[in-house]
Amino acid sequence: DVRNLYAALRAAFPADLDRTAIETDTGLHYTWRDLERGSAMIAQELLSRGLQPGERVVAQVDKSVEALMLYLAVLRAGLVYVPLNTAYPDAEVEYFVRDAEPAAVVCVPQRFGRISALAFAAGARFVYTLGADRSGTLLQRAAHRPDQHDPAPVGLDALASIIYTSGTTGRSKGAMLTHGNLLANARVLHGYWGWRPDDVLIHVLPIFHVHGLFVAVHGALLSGSPMLWAAKFDPTTVLRWLPRATVFMGVPTLYSRLLAEPELTAQRCASMRLFISGSAPLLIDTFTQWQQRTGHTILERYGMSETIMLTSNPYRPDPRFGHQDERRGGTVGFPLPGVEVRIADAHDQPLPVGEVGGVQVRGPSVFAGYWRMPDKTRAEFTADGWFRTGDVGLFDTRGYLTLVGRSKDLIISGGYNVYPAEVEGAINELPGVAESAVIGVPHPDFGEVGVALVVPRAGAPLDPEAILAALRQRLANYKIPKRCAIVAELPRNTMGKVQKNVLRQQWRDTFI
Ligand code: ATP
Ligand code: MG
Repeated sequence: DVRNLYAALRAAFPADLDRTAIETDTGLHYTWRDLERGSAMIAQELLSRGLQPGERVVAQVDKSVEALMLYLAVLRAGLVYVPLNTAYPDAEVEYFVRDAEPAAVVCVPQRFGRISALAFAAGARFVYTLGADRSGTLLQRAAHRPDQHDPAPVGLDALASIIYTSGTTGRSKGAMLTHGNLLANARVLHGYWGWRPDDVLIHVLPIFHVHGLFVAVHGALLSGSPMLWAAKFDPTTVLRWLPRATVFMGVPTLYSRLLAEPELTAQRCASMRLFISGSAPLLIDTFTQWQQRTGHTILERYGMSETIMLTSNPYRPDPRFGHQDERRGGTVGFPLPGVEVRIADAHDQPLPVGEVGGVQVRGPSVFAGYWRMPDKTRAEFTADGWFRTGDVGLFDTRGYLTLVGRSKDLIISGGYNVYPAEVEGAINELPGVAESAVIGVPHPDFGEVGVALVVPRAGAPLDPEAILAALRQRLANYKIPKRCAIVAELPRNTMGKVQKNVLRQQWRDTFI
């Protein structure tokens, strides 16, 4: 009976702890023993300072294997890990530190002055530094600590981590995830994606979000599989590693950047078993180009900070869905085993197959609520315990879920619902279009109308009027954006998500 996620991960380490667990792009080799000992020493350091179970440790540090050890140390010590996006400036860090009220904060050495001041002001008792090159006080202090530590038997209901959401639709919220949430999801993915001990994962995602920290890291650790580890995504490094690897995880922008490399070939991907995409919608174009270039079909999955992974395209025949094994581009696949997903109307009533509505979920990985936002938590759960994801989608008759947008991005134009994803899909199919975003802006007659921002393919001449004319051939009149503009790029956050709130702000005064 497992009472600490770390203990479960540790139990899956290979028998030979001197094998390489992580190889970095900077030429470092860490063994499984290094992970075990390093995280034990950091846990001992934190506990020696009197940190108590349930207290938070905020970390805003560059990606490194030591940063991963810090995460594992916090788990095994029974503390709560709160990673922050490294791009946040001081003012944002201040907001999160005040919100999380951590006992300890770990920051990069260069920012110690400012971050320690704001952390102490917010009540933190310790501020450590950790540099990407193993510099800083955290490791200096931990070096004097014992290298053994028994994971705290906190129980599966204990908080393991607070993940701040990406802030795509507004201010980030802290999602409280328990040891049990994380372990349940890691185990489900282990089975569903067919993880094997001889897998080798290319890890190039940041480790301050669900995708890089939980889906990728837990996947590899729980299968005792080594990782090839780069602090930042660089297509050249990935191309160099592909012949030695079996699994790759990326956000859609990573796939399009790899496609821009002529050296991406089927031969280079010969040892690969699985390419996984998520965090943002994967364009059909990327999906098919990837198939043509590499012979591999990207497996797209869907999840969020509040729930970890919810749905996945099949890796192999899924007996629950008539043994289908087709990974369908444009869909996010089937509910994972143990996860219930339903489409509901505005009154939380389940809708039939084929109808568009709010995606609601239930299952062992659904979070314990928003940190210190009980009202918000209550508002996002239905009376019968389903979590409202805020995403809008539909099931097809074969059981695949397709997302059509977020409820906050829904455009209500003259009383009609317009799903931006449908309009974007139509625009993206036009020649010369690389991608697009459709947003709703205020309009005196219609309440709201759509504005389409379109990014051309390199060198392709695009005419906004021609785009609108083409759309009129394909879509009902109320779905046609009232304005179309050609833009060089779309604003994205670090997870590759288009920031529609930024666009709405920019185009707000178009008609008023
Ligand atoms: P915030 O909640 O702060 O506005 P966010 O929802 O972007 O930000 P995350 O929890 O990091 O923060 O992201 C979860 C969201 O990402 C999902 O609700 C969904 O909208 C989107 N997403 C994840 N995977 C996919 C996918 N495969 N296709 C489309 N959207 C996806
Ligand atoms: Mg969200």
